[in-house]
Amino acid sequence: MMALSWLLPRALPGLARPGCGRALRRAASASASAPAAPDFNSFVIRTNTCGELRSAHVGQEVTLYGWIQYQRQGLFMILRDFQGLIQVIIPQDEAHSHVKNLLSNAPVESVVRVTGIVTPRPPGQENPKMPTGDIEVKAETAEILNPCKKLPFEVKDFIKKSEALRMQYRYLDLRSFQLQYNLRLRSRVVMKMREYLCNLHGFVDIETPTLFKRTPGGAKEFLVPSREAGKFYSLPQSPQQFKQLLMVGGLDRYFQVARCYRDEGSRPDRQPEFTQIDIEMSFVDQAGIQRLVEGLLQYSWPEERGSISTPFPSMTYEEALADYGTDKPDTRFGMKIVDIGDFLQRSDIQFIQNALSYPHGTVKAICIPQGVEIVEIICRPDGSLKSLLTRFLGEEQQSELVQALNMQVDDVALLAAGEQKQVCSALGSLRLETADLLEAAGLVLRDPAAFRFLWVVDFPLFLPKEENPTELESAHHPFTAPHPSDTSLLYSDPTKVRSQHYDLVLNGNEVGGGSIRIHSAEQQRFVLEKVLKEDSEVLSHLLEALELGAPPHGGIALGLDRLISLIVGAPSIRDVIAFPKSFRGRDLMGNAPNYVTSEELEPYHIQVSWPLEEKEAKKN
Ligand code: ASP
Repeated sequence: MMALSWLLPRALPGLARPGCGRALRRAASASASAPAAPDFNSFVIRTNTCGELRSAHVGQEVTLYGWIQYQRQGLFMILRDFQGLIQVIIPQDEAHSHVKNLLSNAPVESVVRVTGIVTPRPPGQENPKMPTGDIEVKAETAEILNPCKKLPFEVKDFIKKSEALRMQYRYLDLRSFQLQYNLRLRSRVVMKMREYLCNLHGFVDIETPTLFKRTPGGAKEFLVPSREAGKFYSLPQSPQQFKQLLMVGGLDRYFQVARCYRDEGSRPDRQPEFTQIDIEMSFVDQAGIQRLVEGLLQYSWPEERGSISTPFPSMTYEEALADYGTDKPDTRFGMKIVDIGDFLQRSDIQFIQNALSYPHGTVKAICIPQGVEIVEIICRPDGSLKSLLTRFLGEEQQSELVQALNMQVDDVALLAAGEQKQVCSALGSLRLETADLLEAAGLVLRDPAAFRFLWVVDFPLFLPKEENPTELESAHHPFTAPHPSDTSLLYSDPTKVRSQHYDLVLNGNEVGGGSIRIHSAEQQRFVLEKVLKEDSEVLSHLLEALELGAPPHGGIALGLDRLISLIVGAPSIRDVIAFPKSFRGRDLMGNAPNYVTSEELEPYHIQVSWPLEEKEAKKN
């Protein structure tokens, strides 16, 4: 009621405009009950959107604005706006010859105004495939607001065009039904997330700086020159330090729709700038963060994608690697990795014996259901195996293998022998590749409508560095706390410490990750200096903050682009970002990054030493 009495006097002068009175009534009713559907016609000069018209509007005079989707023989045209399509009948009588002339000659994608009367379509001419298909608008007057020149491609979802061209003319591609849908769904989901976090659970939406400094291990950060000679800002990979410092600042519950930056060079389906739903809480444990994220996703999940059930299942990092060969298992289908080392130990196969004799040596297998569709080593109807290996396996061992893998007729077993980690990871990749192949051959393994969330927990705190396995790096990041039962190992054998790091996986994709943080300065310093061999001086502000009353805290970040692309079933995260970069990190529309002059570089104390050929190219 307070809101209404505030709104009335201010809104009154605008009541003459068509949208205002309606908006006011909506606001009044929304304050009393559930939020009303949005008013798409407030503040604008149309009476209706093209896509909203139905039989209930028959007899009304409407003024529509939109793009010409299609025009046929001067008889009718299809007008399009963000909400849908409507058929407009072009008048044929002499009195309307001007309207006919305008509409018949305007190129597709021209922007027009049409005013006319909504009428039922003649019987038999209804189009059940169009939501507005029972009616049409008989044009009375029309205006071409902006004629469209020759298009680089047709704005129709079914017309294939190269991605480079789509990105060069991104504003045209954005007119497609699919991209409109993706971006609007993304906006809806984020709105619900804000509602859940701020209104239902008291989180505070706080913006953190994007100009910061390089952090340890931050090799992938973008540098931004400053006017101080030799000094650079860095674009943060995530607001990690700031969100922890907000907890030290007593903010208690923080969230941000945060833009993050990673300079990873050219990697398909990665973006140099991307968005995270970034969350941090004080006085929370792992289970608390997990329940929060489950509630958040359940609340913001778009209705048209069904519902998701909680709590999400959980699996340890070790189990994930052993059963699926990856730390982000796609649990929509089986084909788990099975250890067959035990009974193959008794075989005479030399390479298997060799593999088993090494430390961490193992033999494992996966069973491809109906694998006969794609490979040629099969389980025959009589239960015997068709394979070179059968020469070395006794009947008993063959049937043990069939049993261990639960093989059915026409299934195929893939075996790998060698070092445990390599074997699991190879079989994990084969599992996914064969699933793709089986699906390409027509078998359905992964329900495209299924959303399988999974928590992966108990990661190791440190992993050997890929480039130098004698050194350690953080599996998540250096602020992650050790598992409470492994804390003492931190000081004796850090390689054995499990962490309080958790990842959220959806259909085999990592969509989130976070951890409970170290809040003791002494422990943080030990991890940085003694285990990771980093210069802790760069983080002195954080270490100092931990000494000045830092509460225990933890958090998580959800990858919004990836999450939305999975929800809408988009092949790439570029399909859910309004203006994405190419996979080489370029903006193909505005042509960024771009050269700047040496005068512009001067204040930054930077000189470019050009490779000769580039210098020549730039001159031309
Ligand atoms: N900052 C982390 C990341 O970007 C997430 C977290 O630990 O909250 O992956």
